[in-house]
Amino acid sequence: MVRTYKPWSEERKRKHSEALMGRSVSKSTREKLSRAMKAKGVPAGFCQKGIAWSEERRQRWSLQQKGKKRKKHTLESRMLMSRIARAKRPAVFTDESKLARNRFEYKLWRKAVYSRDDYTCLKCHIRGGRLNPHHVENFHSNPSLRYDVGNGATLCVLCHKIFHNRYGKKRNNRIQIDEFLNESDMLKGQGFKLLTDGK
Ligand SMILES: [Zn+2]
Ligand SMILES: [Zn+2]
Repeated sequence: MVRTYKPWSEERKRKHSEALMGRSVSKSTREKLSRAMKAKGVPAGFCQKGIAWSEERRQRWSLQQKGKKRKKHTLESRMLMSRIARAKRPAVFTDESKLARNRFEYKLWRKAVYSRDDYTCLKCHIRGGRLNPHHVENFHSNPSLRYDVGNGATLCVLCHKIFHNRYGKKRNNRIQIDEFLNESDMLKGQGFKLLTDGK
């Protein structure tokens, strides 16, 4: 006897889905199910697998998903999340170094370095362009040298960029800046030492 297919009631669907929740169905079980479906006279094409969704169903699904995304965090929870994120961030790369750089001392140091070098890039010798004060011995690892004029070098923005592209931004030192500045024809054989020794 072949039984005709009768649509499931909402309740039966719910129970079935609850029963299957979190379970994966093995290949043999799937084959059994498929055989059973055929035996029960489930109309061909009822199985949804591999069948493209209709436009209507796609839209319904997308609306449902949008509804889920619209849930927003409250202001309180956002503040809490940002506080947690801030606490997790390593201090050395954020607050501490930013504060140190913003200090009045930093501005004084920068001005002193520029004026010692006559507002001229030590690498390309262009005067009065957009300048950067470079820390000869790396800023992070040498707190005692941060505001030492002898540890500063005036570079234009472009030369400064070239320097850090080549040597990286961590563990910079005097050997690197000497090598960098020595490449220039005008400074050949003299280097950075000559410029800073007479400070
Ligand atoms: Zn630098
Ligand atoms: Zn330059």
